[in-house]
Amino acid sequence: MDILNRVSDTITSASRDIARKTRETAEVARLNSAISGCQDRMKRTYLQIGEMYYMETKGSPYPDYEQLFQVIEECHRQIKGYRETISKVRENNEGTVKEFTEVCPQCGKTVETGAAYCSRCGAKMNESSTETMESEEIIEEAQEVEAEREQRQ
Ligand SMILES: [Zn+2]
Repeated sequence: MDILNRVSDTITSASRDIARKTRETAEVARLNSAISGCQDRMKRTYLQIGEMYYMETKGSPYPDYEQLFQVIEECHRQIKGYRETISKVRENNEGTVKEFTEVCPQCGKTVETGAAYCSRCGAKMNESSTETMESEEIIEEAQEVEAEREQRQ
């Protein structure tokens, strides 16, 4: 009886220990998350203080801050440069809107205007169009020669 009581006491105190540990862990976790909440607010506030100080003393910071101010200014310059590059890239892309007006004589695919080769079958594009031009010119020339001959007769 005495032994049984002692065993049950041990079990009870052990489970009490576990419950206490669990509560403790939960409490510590809650406090730790409260601490990191405060640290986040501090970081944001320091950032705000820094920005305000920068804006207020932009032209003439205390010497200790000069190097840090230069970093900020360098970043501003870089951002400006990157933005200019972005708008140039966009302009260039707008400038080269592709038109597909020519038809491949080989496979019939519409091909980008002025392209040298068909993008599907690789047939030469310009050659066929210059050939047509040339043959038209030859016909015109022949007709002129013919007309001259007729006039002479
Ligand atoms: Zn083709």
